[in-house]
Amino acid sequence: MADPKGFMTTPRQDRPRRPVEQRVRDWDEVYVPGALLPIVSKQADRCMDCGIPFCHDACPLGNLIPEWNDLVSREDWRAASDRLHATNNFPEFTGRLCPAPCEAGCVLAINQPAVTIKNVEVAIADRAWTDGFTPPRPPDRLSGKTVAVIGSGPTGLAAAQQLTRAGHTVVVYERDDRIGGLMRYGIPAFKMEKRHLERRIEQMLAEGTRFRTSTAVGRDIGAAELRTRHDAVVIATGATAWRELPVPGRELAGIQQAMEYLPLANRVCEGDLEVSPMSAAGRHVVIVGGGDTGADCLGTAVREGAASVTQLDIYRQPGAERDEDTEPWPTYPKIYRMSAAHEEARDLRTAPAADADARLFSASTLRFSGDEAGHVRSLHVVEVDERRTPVAGTGRSIPADLVLLALGFSGPDRTDGLTDQLGLAMEPRGTIARDGGFATNVPGVFAAGDAARGQSLIVWAIAEGRAVAAAVDRHLTGASRLPAPISPYDRPMTV
Ligand SMILES: Cc1cc2nc3c(=O)[nH]c(=O)nc-3n(C[C@H](O)[C@H](O)[C@H](O)COP(=O)(O)OP(=O)(O)OC[C@H]3O[C@@H](n4cnc5c(N)ncnc54)[C@H](O)[C@@H]3O)c2cc1C
Ligand code: SF4
Repeated sequence: MADPKGFMTTPRQDRPRRPVEQRVRDWDEVYVPGALLPIVSKQADRCMDCGIPFCHDACPLGNLIPEWNDLVSREDWRAASDRLHATNNFPEFTGRLCPAPCEAGCVLAINQPAVTIKNVEVAIADRAWTDGFTPPRPPDRLSGKTVAVIGSGPTGLAAAQQLTRAGHTVVVYERDDRIGGLMRYGIPAFKMEKRHLERRIEQMLAEGTRFRTSTAVGRDIGAAELRTRHDAVVIATGATAWRELPVPGRELAGIQQAMEYLPLANRVCEGDLEVSPMSAAGRHVVIVGGGDTGADCLGTAVREGAASVTQLDIYRQPGAERDEDTEPWPTYPKIYRMSAAHEEARDLRTAPAADADARLFSASTLRFSGDEAGHVRSLHVVEVDERRTPVAGTGRSIPADLVLLALGFSGPDRTDGLTDQLGLAMEPRGTIARDGGFATNVPGVFAAGDAARGQSLIVWAIAEGRAVAAAVDRHLTGASRLPAPISPYDRPMTV
């Protein structure tokens, strides 16, 4: 720590976002380019280098946060990059997309705003790329073993990079036409521009990882055949089986799943389509579901030029501060957060009632009504109490000609036949069953990421990818020096 009093003399300063009116006219990341670097060393200096860094534990990757805060405060970017990449394959992804449970666990956050850990992370990651600290690291020698990784989301990519660097020949099979999983066709470019993905893929190709796109295992290539062709298989197919809203009127046209809608907007950004066939332009949009996927739909609909946007959340509005009784430090609290997309919807007054917030809390959808042509035109909603019982006299209709369902995901999509062809045992909740070493019931087949853990976060996915790589390496060679930051049973820190 260059300045032991930094936490007392420097206030927290966040990465500035571009003005709303400007950023909703493009799909670029919402932040002011170049504005982080001039402030980040002073911000890193706020780290107290406390004796027991809870931030470190709160990060599923075990990122060495106090160490790289110190190096950044001294502007030793190369060493900071080395320490960061020692625990995280893709810090430019987490530095942009992670909800930063580390900051909730920062010791300074007990009575002051936390250190801007995530911003320090992304600054190191970006600097590492511009200064050439992240060259490809091909293995010195090959093991002669081959591994198939099915799925190219953050789990599959992290597993593939670790196993390639350990000397195994890795082939990543991806059913989409491009690599990246939900980071490619789910998460909008205004949260993470896809050039960050391209750069990593180039690095991985140079290290020797092979990619087979447009290849659905189970459909385009038999899963059992794949198993016989490789010494080990890692299933990292994500949890994309979406939840439904079985209420009257669900069959009307114009009611879509979030993951039917978001990929099309991403394809416009990729240049595959001129306009999204589901574009929100000029339409009254209602998003059912108060989570991050819903917020991504909100930001996308605003950029497409929606006439109005409302987001329904069945939970009550959280408080502005942590509830110390139910969610004490260092857990990640449910508090009222204003994402960039919420800020945009608020400032542009896209909510029908010109509310301060596009979100309606404690709101439950009763039914949809449509026009004579069978197209949805309104959504009927009621306020609910904490037990989700409707509150009498609160029913109302909201104009809706595009409804987006963002209700979460139950487990891996089984329509390709992969799980059945391999005879994989499943958990009752729909995820792939595995033991404490990430192994499924089929010898040589391992499962990791959302497919086995259930819907989660990028940081957990990378941690799963690193840990399953260690398990596979051990299976192939009898021992492994690869790090395993988590076990399949680890969960986020709660009370
Ligand atoms: C809209 C949205 C926004 C999100 N935003 C954030 C965020 O901001 N921050 C955050 O931390 N987390 C976010 N998440 C969660 C995060 O994206 C996931 O937890 C993470 O991507 C899971 O990684 P994964 O590699 O396990 O699976 P995925 O990313 O889902 O990747 C699985 C891949 O497997 C492929 N696949 C599936 N079946 C087959 C098959 N049979 N053959 C070949 N390939 C197959 C799929 O096409 C896909 O590419 C978001 C999720 C969604 C849906
Ligand atoms: S990956 Fe997430 S939890 Fe870990 S240091 Fe980065 S922002 Fe914090």
